[in-house]
Amino acid sequence: MKPIIALVGRPNVGKSTLFNRLTRSKDALVADYAGLTRDRHYGDGRIGHKPYILVDTGGFEPLIDSGVMYQMARQSEQAIYEADAVIFMVDGRNGVTPQDRLIANKLRMVDKPVYVAINKVEGVDKIIAVSDFYELGLDKMYPISASHGDGIHKLIDDVLRGF
Ligand code: GDP
Ligand code: MG
Repeated sequence: MKPIIALVGRPNVGKSTLFNRLTRSKDALVADYAGLTRDRHYGDGRIGHKPYILVDTGGFEPLIDSGVMYQMARQSEQAIYEADAVIFMVDGRNGVTPQDRLIANKLRMVDKPVYVAINKVEGVDKIIAVSDFYELGLDKMYPISASHGDGIHKLIDDVLRGF
């Protein structure tokens, strides 16, 4: 059985960019605006000899906090339910947003490994970028750049360890 990894996070943090890089897929649309990917989207990835299934999520209503919980319920919760592990992506250049806190609150109650991918940190001090996100209360944190590829191998290697 291939492990299933769900990619969740608020719009525009870089989920589809990471999905496309890992699955070499052009199917998940990468948008310069929030929330273009409207449905869950599945792709095959592989690290070494280990195959896995990656699930991209999108379609959050932009910037409506009450709506985020609703959308989490409808889309990301299903993806999280199906998954063996979760990658929660945040924007390392923006710091923590209210939407990040809502998602983190939900994920802290999930009984699956959750990895925080702190994205867009190319050219940024990694230690400072990570320290901004300790308040989310999730301990597995990985500074990455989805568009440049930094830190991604280590993240996926750790996610797949144990499967
Ligand atoms: P999604 O809404 O979470 O799926 O985010 P997207 O993958 O559509 O990306 C949103 C925007 O962030 C796009 O303009 C991407 O080019 C940009 N982006 C994604 N990853 C990175 C990164 O590692 N560094 C920088 N600087 N920009 C990124
Ligand atoms: Mg997307």
